[in-house]
Amino acid sequence: MELDYIVVGLGLAGLAFVEQLIQHNKKFIVFENDSQNSSSVASGTYNPVILKRFTPVWNGHEQLQLALPFYDKVSEKLQKEFDTRFITKKVFTSVGDENNWFIALDKPMLSHYMKPEISKDKIPGIIGDFGFGELQGTGRIDTKDLINTYRNYLLNQELLKKEAFDYSQVQLNEEKVIYKNISTSKVVFCEGYGLKENPFFNNLPLNGTKGEIITIHAPELKIDFLLKSSVFMLPIGNDYYKVGATFNWTDKTLDPTEEGKQELVDKLQKTIDVPYTIVDQTAGIRPTVKDRRPLVGVHSEFDQLVVLNGLGTRGVMIAPTVAQNLFNHLEKGEKLDKEIDIKRFSE
Ligand SMILES: Cc1cc2nc3c(=O)[nH]c(=O)nc-3n(C[C@H](O)[C@H](O)[C@H](O)COP(=O)(O)OP(=O)(O)OC[C@H]3O[C@@H](n4cnc5c(N)ncnc54)[C@H](O)[C@@H]3O)c2cc1C
Repeated sequence: MELDYIVVGLGLAGLAFVEQLIQHNKKFIVFENDSQNSSSVASGTYNPVILKRFTPVWNGHEQLQLALPFYDKVSEKLQKEFDTRFITKKVFTSVGDENNWFIALDKPMLSHYMKPEISKDKIPGIIGDFGFGELQGTGRIDTKDLINTYRNYLLNQELLKKEAFDYSQVQLNEEKVIYKNISTSKVVFCEGYGLKENPFFNNLPLNGTKGEIITIHAPELKIDFLLKSSVFMLPIGNDYYKVGATFNWTDKTLDPTEEGKQELVDKLQKTIDVPYTIVDQTAGIRPTVKDRRPLVGVHSEFDQLVVLNGLGTRGVMIAPTVAQNLFNHLEKGEKLDKEIDIKRFSE
């Protein structure tokens, strides 16, 4: 079989790259072995403002301009809606928070999202004496549904193989990669934390940060926005909410833990004062990088081997931009953004 591309991994990174391939009529196949699940576990929220410090997310505004039409287009193609737009309410925990909110409003990019009015009204069920700041232009992609639907779409066209990509089967010649019965121009590895097993790229400084989320049922809580305090609470319908997330830099397993659950329960106790039951708990490893920038580019020795990784904590916003930049780099000679290029670790 003669192909242009093999894509390894179909999370948000793989999906965004495959969309480029389809758009440009490239011949490809995807390998996916369900060894990682960051994209399916993610709550999928997008918000270009860091709510701890009221500072802009790196390139967040620009990324969102590309990401929202991107997901709209995918929705249209798959005939299913994945994007829910809603406001985000930040619970202030001190008078200082309120002051910092007003200071941040002076920055043009932030004022695009942060509303100037502060709400002092109590929200039933929510603990907080210092009011709330509101963000507009935020929302959520249902990444689990998106990934599942997209995989089925590729499976139906025989463009996805549900099997592990076996690195030991890679043969490199001058221009091509021979993989079993496939001859391809390039292999793009979009493996999330699975990159650690990849002998061609496992020298890259991918740290990985485990995150856990619980789903609760809280019938007395009636909120239709994303609430951000020491945890986020994301309404997913019928009085169910996703609550998260934890950050663990040492445990690299995919299993939900008692400690993770307890941490979220403790934080939740300081956030809501209505009864709830926990109905689910999930865990995944975010592909985070030492310098908090994606890992994108071509292998130092073999031009045929390419990596698209390091989407960190914000894959929803980042993936479409970096996938487009990578495709244009490979096919049209466009420069890779220096900040994402893996060359930064070899220079
Ligand atoms: C708890 C949690 C909450 C999060 N919340 C948000 C959020 O609200 N908003 C946001 O934007 N981001 C969030 N993220 C981060 C987001 O999930 C990631 O940035 C993004 O999903 C990473 O996508 P990826 O495609 O690089 O990796 P992954 O989703 O891990 O995909 C990699 C894929 O490659 C496959 N693979 C690996 N090795 C092989 C192999 N050898 N052969 C075949 N297949 C292979 C894996 O099975 C996997 O499906 C969250 C993450 C976690 C864990």
